[in-house]
Amino acid sequence: MRRLCTLVMLFAATPLCARVDFSGRWSLDAARSTGLPPGFEQGLVVEQAGDSMKVKTTLITDNGDRIVDDVYALGAGEQDVPAQFPGVAAKVSKRTARWTGERTIEVRDHVEGDSPNGPLTLDIARQWELSADGKALVIEQDLNNTGFSNHSHRVLTQSAASGAPAPVRTARMFPVDLQVPVPPTPFRAGGKTQLVYEVHATSLRLGDLEWKRLDVLDGDGRELASYAGEELAALLTRPGIASIAAPQRIAGGTSAVAFLWFAVEGPAPATLRHRATFGIPASATAADRAVEGAVVAVRAPALVLGPPVRGGDWIARWTGNGSFHRRGLMAVDGGARISQRFAIDWNCVTRDDREWNGAGDKNEQYTVFGKDVIAVADGVVGRVVDGIPLNQPGSMNPAVTVGIDTAAGDSVSLRLADGSYALYAHLQPGSIVVKEGQRVRRGDRLGKAGNSGNATGPHLHFHVSSGPGLEGEGMPYVFDSFTVVGTEEGMPEEGKWKGKRNEPREVHGELPAEHMLVRFAGE
Ligand SMILES: [Zn+2]
Repeated sequence: MRRLCTLVMLFAATPLCARVDFSGRWSLDAARSTGLPPGFEQGLVVEQAGDSMKVKTTLITDNGDRIVDDVYALGAGEQDVPAQFPGVAAKVSKRTARWTGERTIEVRDHVEGDSPNGPLTLDIARQWELSADGKALVIEQDLNNTGFSNHSHRVLTQSAASGAPAPVRTARMFPVDLQVPVPPTPFRAGGKTQLVYEVHATSLRLGDLEWKRLDVLDGDGRELASYAGEELAALLTRPGIASIAAPQRIAGGTSAVAFLWFAVEGPAPATLRHRATFGIPASATAADRAVEGAVVAVRAPALVLGPPVRGGDWIARWTGNGSFHRRGLMAVDGGARISQRFAIDWNCVTRDDREWNGAGDKNEQYTVFGKDVIAVADGVVGRVVDGIPLNQPGSMNPAVTVGIDTAAGDSVSLRLADGSYALYAHLQPGSIVVKEGQRVRRGDRLGKAGNSGNATGPHLHFHVSSGPGLEGEGMPYVFDSFTVVGTEEGMPEEGKWKGKRNEPREVHGELPAEHMLVRFAGE
């Protein structure tokens, strides 16, 4: 072999042994490069073994990522290679790669095919040159696309294993659609003004995004709330996507919904503005992009209502920011809505903490069963559903097929002064004492709490929304007065409520929080 090498060296213009190795991880130095679109980033991972080079190219623009795996067979003559241009159906795709000097190679691609805009001929010539110190790779690229030509000068440097992250770049034309479908109606809870709503982010980009941060600003740019990393991930759901191991990772064409619930000091701001920051996972060096928008006017404060029931003691369940009511995004009549956004499932315990007696397998054993539900305000009965049989407690098989008209079971929707509806769901069949169109006064009896429709045990589901059924958007409300007498600390054991009672504390004009044990006026 040694003799052969000597022989080759006699005839070769450039000795084989002196040829450079391009192997390494390279990234574009945009400041030293020309002829490229704004925001363009390029990374190369090169593995070279003699005359064979594996080249993985990552191309990043605001609109998308392109990751291409190439093989350059240097000196092998013209070869057929797979064409890797999006949207191009290639009929011819040929590549010639060769050494042109000790430190230089030339790679020529010729592609003929069809694109959505018609026939296409693509010629790309790349001249690679490695600097003498091996620290810079310069690529001169000439591209001719069916008569239109472009020249770019790209300087790439060896990527450092780690480095300071690039500063966040504010991008007005970044392809993300931010929407707040229902601007918040402020309400009081825990002594503070609360803002509860959702921000939907849909990626219109070719390639993944990572939603890294969400800042909520008021009209003067003051920061009201800020979520990042795991804290943001915990607020996200991904409609239509089963696996949510990494909910902040948003593939092109998909969306994430951030469920916000935060308190502000003092009164609610007039407007809200949102700044969402996205990383580009395809690149280790790409700057994060910040998008500002989704400006909405905060609505008028929530309705003040009377109690939906009398006396006590009532447990407020499934009303927190992570509850299935709050996150119950359902499409009705072609629109995605959350009618149960502020629903509370109310259960009842006796003064000696019994939620039910006996085995809990009969509706009559439950303290809540048969309690009167009453009008929270003067209004007009908008919808009554009656005649749906009771469910067996603990059974996951409701007595009726659950659908849009039966989910609430025997129920009353009361139209309130502002046009919204108060819904009393899962009542007892035959217990409803009002008719559709009937005017009622605050405190009037409407029916009795039961266990009908989409319910697994007796309770009162109460919410306010913009429609009489599941077609509305859930609106917050506050009760003019209630007394907090305890806090739930776990699910009941053998019918006994689990929690701590406290000195009665009167609350005015607030929405009860999850797990509160509450006493209302009357009995
Ligand atoms: Zn419910």
